Amino acid sequence: MFSLSEWQNSKDWQNWVGYVTATPEEKLTPSSVEELQDIVKKARIAKKRVRVTGAAHSFSGCAKPEEIAVSLHNMRGIVAVDREAKEVTLQAGTYLHEIGEMLREYGFALENMGDIQYQSIAGSVSTGTHGTGVTLGSVANQVVAWEWVGGTGQVHTHRRGEALDEDGNNELGNALHVSLGMLGIFTKLTIKVVELYGLREESQVFDFETGLAQFYDASHAHRHMEWFLFPGTNKLQQ
Ligand SMILES: Cc1cc2nc3c(=O)[nH]c(=O)nc-3n(C[C@H](O)[C@H](O)[C@H](O)COP(=O)(O)OP(=O)(O)OC[C@H]3O[C@@H](n4cnc5c(N)ncnc54)[C@H](O)[C@@H]3O)c2cc1C
Repeated sequence: MFSLSEWQNSKDWQNWVGYVTATPEEKLTPSSVEELQDIVKKARIAKKRVRVTGAAHSFSGCAKPEEIAVSLHNMRGIVAVDREAKEVTLQAGTYLHEIGEMLREYGFALENMGDIQYQSIAGSVSTGTHGTGVTLGSVANQVVAWEWVGGTGQVHTHRRGEALDEDGNNELGNALHVSLGMLGIFTKLTIKVVELYGLREESQVFDFETGLAQFYDASHAHRHMEWFLFPGTNKLQQ
């Protein structure tokens, strides 16, 4: 889980597991889009690289800040709810564990998420974080519109499916879909939500062969299904 005190009190930065580390020159926590634009504009003039970090839960170095580290920890929460269209606009720094409670107030829920909830919505979207469920897409798949600050400090917006090229492709939307922070810093994300639902979890241990034999049927019979394999044994937990 992101810790604001660690961010503020340590010069160092590390990812969740601690094997990607950095000592950025600055660690900043803007509270508004304008403040973020100012950071990007100043960094551009100073020829410094800016890297935005969510909860630093990526195992790779994709969130490693080289020069200026930015956290959107102070840019969280719901911005707008369109009940009819079932679309909710969130500030990009909002953590997944906050979203469920916020959406519940409106009778909505996220369609799907990964198997933990500490990531930020922007980090999850930017890396294609996925859950399980043969009928369900990734977190990025739920995004219908993006707002972001680009490399010049300008604010951009895009709605999925807009600005098609002459072949009917939505190149910008496709690039934004999973962008690893390469196109700029997301400030708002509009998500397609679903009606609030409940889940019941069942867990069983199988021999590998038994699990494999019923994999197809089980994965199609349930909204979600996942396996944990235990190397060195012939067991799996479903
Ligand atoms: C215990 C654990 C369990 C996990 N489970 C799953 C799982 O079930 N399924 C799965 O698919 N993944 C899983 N992951 C991976 C995790 O979901 C991703 O690495 C995700 O990106 C982490 O989100 P974050 O907010 O920590 O982003 P970070 O790791 O901080 O950043 C990820 C990327 O997003 C970019 N980024 C962050 N914020 C913004 C922004 N505002 N604008 C633009 N770019 C931005 C960063 O620059 C970086 O490139 C798991 C990770 C851990 C540690």
